[in-house]
Amino acid sequence: MSRVPKAHPRAESLRVRERLVDGFKSGLVVPEGLTAHGRGEAFDYILGERTSKFARSAIEAAVAEMLLAERPVISVNGNVAALVPAEIVTLAKLVGAKIEVNLFHGSNRREVAIAKYLRKHGAEDVFGVGSKFATRIPEINSNRRKVDRRGIAASDVVLIPLEDGDRAMALRKLGKRVIAIDLNPMSRTARAADIAIVDNITRALPLMIETAKSISQKPREKLQKIMEKFDNNANLKASLRFMLERLENLSRG
Ligand code: ATP
Ligand code: MG
Repeated sequence: MSRVPKAHPRAESLRVRERLVDGFKSGLVVPEGLTAHGRGEAFDYILGERTSKFARSAIEAAVAEMLLAERPVISVNGNVAALVPAEIVTLAKLVGAKIEVNLFHGSNRREVAIAKYLRKHGAEDVFGVGSKFATRIPEINSNRRKVDRRGIAASDVVLIPLEDGDRAMALRKLGKRVIAIDLNPMSRTARAADIAIVDNITRALPLMIETAKSISQKPREKLQKIMEKFDNNANLKASLRFMLERLENLSRG
């Protein structure tokens, strides 16, 4: 049960924080994850905590890309698991994606806890736990280069919600198509991605599920067209302009 009073004007945002704090207490989320969320929240405030039409078009392109992919993978870290565990599992099933635990601040204990939490929410196979199937991304020289041979290493398309810029770029260099979800349209992650969804993951995931249900029956050529007409650079600029216009309107009162 939520401890947030229903009538609180910021109830939704507080409930999301509560999920992260619970995730922290149960060993899914690291303290750095809490601060990263705060940075995201600041951008969300500027967005008006709503999904923009630019994010909607990125979502459509992203889902088309995942449906067309041969070996799509969804990369899950602590914040993602704490915020949208059931949605990750549902989306993976709808687009035929594998799920891999992939941590910036890696630890076996946390990998196990996240995989267990995802299974509790209906996941079957969860890759990225332990070292048996681990291999390394050559471009990254830290813990984060660990990936699963059956998952990200073999993938053609990777969804990396809430990722760090270095890793996003390294995955691109390996020839993967990269889809990011990041509230900051200026981040290296958003700019390195083939498709960046500038939205809160808590809103983006349910919309991705809805979109997957509505476009999965379309012919491949239609999905291809949706994907090809998406221009990440143009979309990021439009998202920034959207923020700028909102600030301008607010400043005029
Ligand atoms: P980069 O490494 O890509 O240049 P960064 O170093 O500024 O970016 P990181 O700390 O690597 O950022 O990742 C945190 C980012 O994740 C935040 O800046 C924010 O934009 C994004 N983020 C955090 N919480 C959410 C959320 N709930 N939904 C969407 N994006 C989020
Ligand atoms: Mg970073």
